Amino acid sequence: MKYLLLIVVVALVFSMLARKRARPPAVKPDSPAQPKAQALSMATCAQCGLHLPLDEALPGQGGVFCSGAHRAAFELAHGTRS
Ligand SMILES: [Zn+2]
Repeated sequence: MKYLLLIVVVALVFSMLARKRARPPAVKPDSPAQPKAQALSMATCAQCGLHLPLDEALPGQGGVFCSGAHRAAFELAHGTRS
């Protein structure tokens, strides 16, 4: 009778462990998901220091610029326009 009780207790413990293992893993809220926005490559205006996406920057002599006016002002100030 003593061994029967021991067997029942062991069986209960094993069934509880099996149930815990069968449970689907909890979804972590901070699980690494795919980033929605890719990092844009940024450029800095050589005239005013504004950061802007590289595909919106205007290339010029001496760097890239946020606008045509800043490109003209930079080239005028640095004498790159002849
Ligand atoms: Zn600028």
